[in-house]
Parts: sequence; C-alpha cells; structure tokens
Amino acid sequence: MNRKSDLSVDGLIRHLDASVSPAHSVEYSATRLRGAGFVETSFERLKDGLPTNGFIADAGLLLAWTLPQQAIRQFRIVGTHTDSPCLKVKPLPDSGSFGWKQIGVEVYGGILNNSWLDRDLGLAGRVVLTDGSVKNVRVDQAIARIPQLAIHLDREVNDRGLILDKQVHLAPIWGLGQYRPGEFSEFLAEQMSVSVSEISLWDISLFDLTPASLLGHDQSLLASGRLDNQVSCWSATEGLIDASASDASGDTASVIAQFDHEEVGSQSTHGAAGPRLTWLLEALHAGTRTEFHETLSRSHCISADNAHAIHPNYPDRHEPTHRPLPNLGPVLKINANQRYATSVESAAVFLQTCALAGVPHQTFVSRNSIPCGSTIGPVAATQLGIPTVDVGVAQLSMHSARELCGASDPAMLAKVVARYFAA
Ligand code: ZN
Repeated sequence: MNRKSDLSVDGLIRHLDASVSPAHSVEYSATRLRGAGFVETSFERLKDGLPTNGFIADAGLLLAWTLPQQAIRQFRIVGTHTDSPCLKVKPLPDSGSFGWKQIGVEVYGGILNNSWLDRDLGLAGRVVLTDGSVKNVRVDQAIARIPQLAIHLDREVNDRGLILDKQVHLAPIWGLGQYRPGEFSEFLAEQMSVSVSEISLWDISLFDLTPASLLGHDQSLLASGRLDNQVSCWSATEGLIDASASDASGDTASVIAQFDHEEVGSQSTHGAAGPRLTWLLEALHAGTRTEFHETLSRSHCISADNAHAIHPNYPDRHEPTHRPLPNLGPVLKINANQRYATSVESAAVFLQTCALAGVPHQTFVSRNSIPCGSTIGPVAATQLGIPTVDVGVAQLSMHSARELCGASDPAMLAKVVARYFAA
C-alpha cells in the first residue's frame, strides 16, 4: 500500500467527523489529495493544461484524476455523492412561538424524520459574502434541538406510530424569548467574525454533533451520521491516492467524481446529471470528438453508494436469497428495471477486480414487492454512455441521522478501488 493512503478505521472516522456537509467533505478530501501530491486546478483554468495527479474542488463537487504517460485510451471512473439527507436552514429562518425561539428548516432529501428528534445539533455549510467570496462554516456547539413530544402527551404513539408533519413538527428550538428577524444572521456573522451586512446568503444544514464511533461487543461495527455516502467518498479518495503511487505507464486515466445533490435527484450543475464530469473528461482527453467517443466506449465506471444490509428485525423487507451483511465485502447491486446501472458486462469487471484485490463481494436484489432505490450510476451511465456497475457498502438505518455499517467494509471497498485504478 502507498504510505500516503490511509485505510485505517481511524482515518475513516476522521473523514466522517470532518464531512459534516458536502462542502466540508470536499474540503477534507482535497486536503488528503494535496497531502499526497495532487495539484489543485479549476474549471476556469482547463486550457492551461491539467496536472498528472490533479483535482478540482468546486463547492460540493470533487473531481480528481491520475493521468497515464501514454495517450488516454480509456477512463476508469469511480463515482460517489457527497450529500446526505438533512435539514437546511431557510433564508428567513427566525421564527418561534409561546416564548420559544425556533429556526425554520427545509427538509433536504429523504430523511427519516424521527431520527432527527432529541439530538444536539450543530451547523455546517457554505456562506456567500457580499464580495462574492464563499466561506465554509462549521459551528460545533449544540445550538439547536427538535424535541419529541413527551409520552404523557402522546399516549398512543407506541401503538399507532409516530407521524411527524415536516413543516410543523421538525422546527428546531434554539433558545428562549421573543424571536427577532435577523437574529440567525447575527449569530452566523459573529461565528464567522464578519459583519451582518457582509453576509449575502447561506447553504447551511444542521448536523448531529455525536462523533462517529465503533460499536458492538467486538467493535466490528461503525455508527455515524452520513455513512451514505461518505464511506464511498473516503474509499474513492484513499483508493485513488493509493493507486497514484503505482506505475502509470499504461493508457488508462483514473478519475473519481464525487457529486452533490444525489439525494434530490442529481439534476443540478454539481450533480451527476450535470455536465462537469463530461467537461473534465473532454479536457483530460484532448482528442477529436470521435476519438473521445471511442475512448468513452472503451471506458468503465464504478458507481459506489451504500446498499441495504439484511435487517434482523425486518427480514420480510428483504429478498430471501440476497441478504448482504456487514463486513463480508462490497455489495454488487442489480436491478432488472435499471434502477441500478449494473449490466452483466459491467459487473464482470467489478467481480474480477474484487478477485484480484482479494476482497469478497455480496449481491443485492430488492424484493419484487418493494420498489428499488436508485443512485448516481444510471444517471452517469445515461449521461456518458460508459458501462457502469453499481456497488456499495452494506448498512442499516439508511437515511437516519445516525447510520450503521461494518467497520471493515469501507477499507475493502478502498482496496477494490485501488486495484481497479492499478489495472
Ligand atoms: Zn447514497
């Protein structure tokens, strides 16, 4: 293994604790890449030429690559997403009633509503200042909480189930007294050491302050917020760093693409349906349009996003003969209706790579009676026409504010990524 990559679970925990928003995930991965000798560039400087080991960090989107010495004949791409379902602070958030101050939040993606109750919440995201500059902001104090209604005032909740209205019941409290418009901006300005008038607007979400931790009698599990899909982001980044140290004498360019906005459908400038990965591949390739299309047709993509492990308390929700478990290796995701991009040909490349890396794998198919989720794989495959395989680490509690996966799987996925790029 390349000494610059770090496949330890401590390294993964550092990544998870740093990645409290898409922009923070990109910032942390950029730091790792820089430390491994990757050179930063931007979309504004594409014509200046691209470094052999380079990256572009663009808000919640990260693109990084290693170029071969020869002309590019094919790309190998690992795609992930940097966003997770969460609560975003509204533009005019100051609100409250009955002597409580509250923050207005907008639900981002498919959160499990109940999982956000009674958690001590911090703030993280990006703030645009009036001079046009953008700053990442992180407030690591418990500043807000969504309190659950007491059992005494909701006697039937355990039998009838908890029904939460997203507008009414998910408004966090953050203090006492009469609320005042502008208070949130003032708080933010103070945290950033700028004046209120300098703040233009923000993209800020709440996050659970509880750090990632190992779990289980043998510490074989890992609990954290944002496992979907930070474990794949970590595996992709460390896998690329690892492979970048090996001989680059071939004709294959290695690329990782960590997109924003997967949880809301990927239709954005920085999402998988946007054009930026194509822009980068065109710039890296630098051939004619026909040659570019020939190169794409020889290429391959791994779309890495977490998979559902079998839940011991709900076995009826799973396909009986496809039951992924934590720590038994990355999961190959298949769906006949193309909710996953996996084809028999694209899967074969992944299976062979697992074998070469000495990493076991599992297979997921959803029950016919339960619609399958989707991910960036089909979006990226449709956009680029590159054969794509959907894979991911098995987990429980997907889209909860605190999820659970195996402690060993992310490193296994990183080894597969490193082997894939070293091919
Ligand atoms: Zn995901």
